[in-house]
Amino acid sequence: MTLKNRNFSFLKITDSIGASACLLGSSCNYKAQGNLNFWVRKLKEEFSFSWELFCPEDFVMGTPREPVNIVGGTGADVWEGTARVLTHKGEDVTALMKKGAIQFEALLRRKNIRLVILKEKSPSCGVFHIYDGTLWPEKKLIKGQGVTSAFLSQKGYVVLSDQKEAQDFYEYACERWR
Ligand code: SF4
Repeated sequence: MTLKNRNFSFLKITDSIGASACLLGSSCNYKAQGNLNFWVRKLKEEFSFSWELFCPEDFVMGTPREPVNIVGGTGADVWEGTARVLTHKGEDVTALMKKGAIQFEALLRRKNIRLVILKEKSPSCGVFHIYDGTLWPEKKLIKGQGVTSAFLSQKGYVVLSDQKEAQDFYEYACERWR
């Protein structure tokens, strides 16, 4: 799906947007580092949206933590019960990952947020791609969403990837609100 196919007519400049917390600099990835995204930061600095930042993995496992991967499928498969999330040491954290996703969705619902921008390739937040955990430590990308991303899509949220789509959305915002 490309940004062209997304409908943002519901969005007002005073609305809130949800985002993976690491995209705006929170040091919440498994190594306690951030993933500051240039376009998300520009959106935050140049437009009057409010932002709700959340890290589903930090919420349930803390930071720093063992890195995790989805094994046997994608985030959607995790919700179907046909894939699991394992740490690199083999601990099953599937239930925790689902708990983090549910908590993020509850936050968005409370704040009436419908648009989220998530960090690509993450087992929680990946929008178009995640790593195939069955091949770890080989890093092979497969098509599919992370656990949180899949859950939010299933619940009807507009989920954008920080890769390319954040820039496209920034350009859309410039055209519409400048
Ligand atoms: S779980 Fe999501 S918000 Fe947290 S560090 Fe990973 S990509 Fe960022």
